[in-house]
Amino acid sequence: MNTGKICISVCAKTTDELLRKIASAEKIGDMIELRFDCLKKEEIQTALKEISSNKFKKPFLITFRPKNQGGYKNLTDDIRNKFWSIIFKEIPKNVLYVDLEYDLDKTSPSQEPKVIRSFHDFEGTQKNLEKFLSSGNEISKIAIQSSAITDSLAVWKLLEIAKETKLVPIAMGEAGKWTRILGLAYGSPIIYSSLEAGIETAPGQISAKDLIEVYRVKELDRNTEIYGIIGNPVSHSLSPHMHNAAFKHHKLNAVYIPFEVNNLNNFIKRMVREETRETNWNLKGFSVTIPHKETIIKHLDFIDKDAKAIGAVNTVKIVNGKLHGYNTDADSFIDPLRKALGDLKNVSVGIIGNGGAARACVFALKRDGANVTIFARDTNKASTLATEFDVELENIMGLDSGLRTPDCLVNATPLGTTGKLEKETPISAKQIKNIQLAYDLVYNPIETLFLREARRVDIPTINGLEMLVAQGIKQFRIWTTLEAPAQIMKEAALKCLKEKTNRKDR
Ligand code: NAP
Repeated sequence: MNTGKICISVCAKTTDELLRKIASAEKIGDMIELRFDCLKKEEIQTALKEISSNKFKKPFLITFRPKNQGGYKNLTDDIRNKFWSIIFKEIPKNVLYVDLEYDLDKTSPSQEPKVIRSFHDFEGTQKNLEKFLSSGNEISKIAIQSSAITDSLAVWKLLEIAKETKLVPIAMGEAGKWTRILGLAYGSPIIYSSLEAGIETAPGQISAKDLIEVYRVKELDRNTEIYGIIGNPVSHSLSPHMHNAAFKHHKLNAVYIPFEVNNLNNFIKRMVREETRETNWNLKGFSVTIPHKETIIKHLDFIDKDAKAIGAVNTVKIVNGKLHGYNTDADSFIDPLRKALGDLKNVSVGIIGNGGAARACVFALKRDGANVTIFARDTNKASTLATEFDVELENIMGLDSGLRTPDCLVNATPLGTTGKLEKETPISAKQIKNIQLAYDLVYNPIETLFLREARRVDIPTINGLEMLVAQGIKQFRIWTTLEAPAQIMKEAALKCLKEKTNRKDR
């Protein structure tokens, strides 16, 4: 538990739109940032009059940011000074905070409204950030763009220096999201959020609803156990939704965060290893995804024997500072297949792809005695995997010729994934009738073109969500030793997928 506040940042062009957004924001936020730099010039007076009325329940923070500091309008110093003179002459009743940029030679005329002294660096190049820490009664807000997760340490470490001085440290961008999720737990008085996903007012901002319902940021503190997913990209991941729902169900003081990691060596050294890390946090484990499932192995102190045989790790648990690696993909892949087909001995299974997921599939299938063929677009590259597990290898084009069709076909490539690959399928509609089961590891969309085509000709299908939820359940058990709430995790993943689809369709 902490005492921080969730501030919803609201940007509107007209007073009517502003009032509508305030009404929605009041339902979830503790305070509301009114971005006056979004308003049309001619709306400012009307908006000020409106917000002075008694009808509001939550306090306001007023911001009037120039474009060169992340605002929406080109504002000269003269315009900015005039605006603040109007505000300070007759402070609207509900305004408890004002955001004054560090270069503005102005301060609040009295105790209230409190000043948030802000500094923004959208290039992420500013050094010596301490100089932007305010003194006295002011709250400092220092927001720095982070292109790599370890860049965000510079602003995060200011929390140690700031101590009693109030500081809102923000690393902007996907790689800095963790600072937004953990900020309140580590002493930041405020966290900024968007009213909804998709209408953020700063890069990497998270919706208030997700901060409250998914990450439970107001319940977190320095003892909170930290888990997450490392990889790139991670913004599409459903794992934060599944795992946080499971933590909530068990009432655990734990949180699961997306960590966008490009440089694994730097991340392990500067943020994970107790001897060298630069943040003193309660990190307990993480999921590992593309592109680090194989390269993580060299950083481990212990590797489970199946993970070693597969050559890929998707789960790390930190025990007494040591990194233990596991693979929950293989068992999660094979369980639904056994359910559908029974004994897999001598069943012919085609795996399309030769990446990390294909590796886990081939391992599990060989263990069960299936006859495996890998179908790859680059057979040279795929020959390493085929040779290692002693399975057959074919060019992916062979599937469409109809010459080689396995009983069961598994798509372990991103073909069919939402976005530019959505209309792609690894096998044509003409050839699909030759298989008996279609299994797609892609889970977004739940039903890919491959599975739709299969269903159209009455071929049974298994979608990627089953494996996704199953591997998450096994990870949860490894980390907490508790029984995972399977249904709750599945519902959380489905809900998130639906929300993503709705946003895309809007
Ligand atoms: P990966 O290591 O990057 O491997 C991707 C594989 O797909 C590579 O073999 C690649 O071929 C092949 N590929 C990529 N684009 C292709 C295309 N246009 N045509 C033909 N082949 C193509 O990724 P991964 O970790 O194995 O994951 C693969 C898919 O499985 C992803 O969509 C992932 O989301 C999904 N997955 C799902 C679950 C789950 O729980 N449901 C778990 C893990 C993975 P090259 O080697 O020639 O580049």
